Amino acid sequence: MITSGEHQHRSCYVNFAGHLLNSFSPNMLHPQLPNSWLHADWMSFIDMIKDFGFNVYEFWLVPRLFCRSGLDSDFGKRFTSQMQDIIDYAADQGMATKMFCSLATVGADWRTYCPNVTDEWDECLFLWDQWTKRLHRLGMIGIFPGDPGACSRNGCTPETFIDKAVEVSDIIKKNQPDAQIELNTWGNPFFGWGCIEGPDGWQGEFVQDYQHTAWTFSRPRADRAMTHLLKRLKHFPEYTAVAINLAFNPDADPKHGDGEQSAQSWAREIAKTNPILTWDFSLTEGENAIIPHYRFERLFSQRKREREAAPYQGGMCYTMTPMLNQLSLYQAAQSFIDPDADHREVTRRFYSKYFGYKERELLDILPLFEIVPDWGNGVKIDIAKSEYRRLMLRGSEIVREIKRDNANDNEAPFHPAPKTYLNDLMFFFDLFACLSDEQPDFAYCRQTYWNKVYEIYNDLPTHVDPRPTLATNNLIRVFDDSSNDSAKSPMPGRWI
Ligand SMILES: [Zn+2]
Repeated sequence: MITSGEHQHRSCYVNFAGHLLNSFSPNMLHPQLPNSWLHADWMSFIDMIKDFGFNVYEFWLVPRLFCRSGLDSDFGKRFTSQMQDIIDYAADQGMATKMFCSLATVGADWRTYCPNVTDEWDECLFLWDQWTKRLHRLGMIGIFPGDPGACSRNGCTPETFIDKAVEVSDIIKKNQPDAQIELNTWGNPFFGWGCIEGPDGWQGEFVQDYQHTAWTFSRPRADRAMTHLLKRLKHFPEYTAVAINLAFNPDADPKHGDGEQSAQSWAREIAKTNPILTWDFSLTEGENAIIPHYRFERLFSQRKREREAAPYQGGMCYTMTPMLNQLSLYQAAQSFIDPDADHREVTRRFYSKYFGYKERELLDILPLFEIVPDWGNGVKIDIAKSEYRRLMLRGSEIVREIKRDNANDNEAPFHPAPKTYLNDLMFFFDLFACLSDEQPDFAYCRQTYWNKVYEIYNDLPTHVDPRPTLATNNLIRVFDDSSNDSAKSPMPGRWI
């Protein structure tokens, strides 16, 4: 628990939500489908992130679980039992587990209940009560406003989110007195509370076409919401942490919009009474551009900006690909511990420690994967396609050499086995080499990528969020000269 300025909270958030499923993430929601993790997998994952430098493992209690069928169904019961085993194992290793949940978004269809409708709000309180009774030994429990979710029906506003979070935190504290509360401000003041729109007759259903309305920024609204938050902070349990980024915009950039979206003064004000944490979501991955990421220049410069701006006590790093982007997780944990570190040196340390590879050549090639425009990635990679292809082929060759030279002698905890990681890295080098060929077979590349990454969706009904298909198309377009520039813009679903 963060009770003093000495303690730094370094959380690894694995997002296994239904719209972000993929082969590099645990499938916790569909027991009949592939990619489930056994308890041994989770143990080895927890050991690895602890070794990386994290002290918290974090998960989202997704809406599909936050409902009656989540409580009563076989899959809900299975989830509860598996998650309790994970929490217990982590606690035994000295790692806290944080569960967070949207205030009022309920069920697989992501409907948001209205706190101003008595029956709907009673149901939310019932679900909060049940879930915080079911899982034990949680170190932290977070309440966040939405995405998906948020209500603007019946007079709901960002202030409603805060007031109702106070009510929920009382329930949490009653059921789990040892757990710390985290209030997450996610999205410019409190996501779409008070501003999300819906079609005629809307009853809080998730409607993709209206999602963008939740992101509309207004400084007066932000000031009102934050003033209310400050006023009500004393009504939350002692030591309630507040997750607030440097700015109320997608990339947490306080300079964006002539500085009017800066959250720094609010963060400093909150820090006078409560711990503040960063939850900068796009620093590591963004959403759905599933590739081996390399965004570390920005990661470390943001950590330094945070240090200058306000007394942050750590924060969260996110992944939806814990079995592909271990390097990002390692860098993220290390960026909290030493914001002044040189990310190239951290990469070198990672490959040396976990794979016995001590050369520097790979360090120049890995950043080239970050060629897909995406939330959190504004880097332009400007080299000739033939040179790009040459470097991808060279990357593949290096990985093959690492595999040959360092088979089975790694004792540091790593999940999955280093060999699996190296095979996957090689897959991406080979795929990107194919894509940057003079005359690529895009249909083949597209199918190969889909089979490797998103095959699980072949056996599921179409999800309310179409991101996997869009992300796959987006990757192909980056390499397809016949597609126009507008098609190469970041995909829908990111913050806009
Ligand atoms: Zn409402």
